[in-house]
Amino acid sequence: MWLASQGRGMHIFVSGAGPVGLSAAIALAARGYQVTIADREVGLTDQARAVGVNRNTLSLLTHCGAAARVLEEAQRVRSVRFLQGETLLTRLKVPGQDKRLPTLVALPQSETERILAETLARYAIDVLWQHETTALTQSDAGVEATLTHVGTGETRAVSADYAFGADGSHSAVRRLLDIDFPGRQVGGTWSVADAECDFPWPEQACAVLSDVCEVAFMITIGAGRYRLIANHPDVLETARRLMPVNRVISDNAFHVDLRVAEVMGKGRVALGGDAAHVHSPVGGRGMNLGIADAFAFAEAVEHGDMAHYRAERLAAAHRVVRWTDRAYRALTATSSIGVFARNSALRTVGFLSGLRT
Ligand SMILES: Cc1cc2nc3c(=O)[nH]c(=O)nc-3n(C[C@H](O)[C@H](O)[C@H](O)COP(=O)(O)OP(=O)(O)OC[C@H]3O[C@@H](n4cnc5c(N)ncnc54)[C@H](O)[C@@H]3O)c2cc1C
Repeated sequence: MWLASQGRGMHIFVSGAGPVGLSAAIALAARGYQVTIADREVGLTDQARAVGVNRNTLSLLTHCGAAARVLEEAQRVRSVRFLQGETLLTRLKVPGQDKRLPTLVALPQSETERILAETLARYAIDVLWQHETTALTQSDAGVEATLTHVGTGETRAVSADYAFGADGSHSAVRRLLDIDFPGRQVGGTWSVADAECDFPWPEQACAVLSDVCEVAFMITIGAGRYRLIANHPDVLETARRLMPVNRVISDNAFHVDLRVAEVMGKGRVALGGDAAHVHSPVGGRGMNLGIADAFAFAEAVEHGDMAHYRAERLAAAHRVVRWTDRAYRALTATSSIGVFARNSALRTVGFLSGLRT
């Protein structure tokens, strides 16, 4: 067994304190490494983003105690209702929800991040907020990062044995490593809203399909509140057609890209999370995939094997991006053959199996 004390002496720098950077810092701290984690924002995000936390993430967060807290606060998504417009298409039971670690629970990303930051604080590690990674160089012996204070412009140097770029889709670390991020945009403007709704069905989530390439998702976030996401600019309009929407808590637009970095890092610096791969929110995989990167990175540091990290996580990223792309195309199918194939798939539990890992 790896003892925490063995890790001391090695120092790891993590750029970005979203869910992936925080998870990496926890995984590294649990192994006894010194960690510096910095983020250019003033604090944790309050944006409406990820909501699904899957079993693999819960399993990775069990040892540090965060999974138990997620399970205390999250909602179990036991079944999903699929509508074609306003007509019931099918109801699907999410498999494995009664297990100790369920397949999928719903918790707003801001709450997950709060739990992760509190877990990290138990290892006596605080995030350096308002510190942006602005330069990064490396040699065979280590990594030198420069952090610039967003308010004062003061710089501070960080010397580390390894670094992890978890600084999101516009990653400075990826740019500083000169790594391409090829791909394309998916659809036009998407919308995401949190609202209090009179959800009229017993299911905890609903997908609304259409015959004009539009799709909307509604998922419980607790106590009559729902997160609504659509691949068009007005998810609230879709919700209002189906149920009373009593209060809008937030309402935002976003764009979706489908991209995978050409490599998951170089030398002693690795990329993880949205810095390395982005895709549509279908299936709720982005944050979960990134958290798996974070724990794999900590293991790679332990074994001194970044090449294995790069190969394994690149393959995982391509697998998930392919799955979400196929699922998105199926959900937005408009041809009669595509709709028939999609509806047949929806009637099997197999369609939901991609949610698991
Ligand atoms: C509407 C929506 C719904 C989604 N639903 C799901 C879902 O249900 N399940 C799921 O798994 N995923 C979902 N996702 C995806 C998920 O939100 C992202 O995959 C996740 O936030 C990625 O985490 P991250 O830590 O890699 O990046 P981010 O969350 O983007 O965090 C990156 C951090 O890096 C910081 N940063 C940026 N540049 C620098 C710099 N130069 N120096 C220092 N810090 C920097 C940023 O301030 C930020 O805090 C959804 C996304 C959206 C938009």
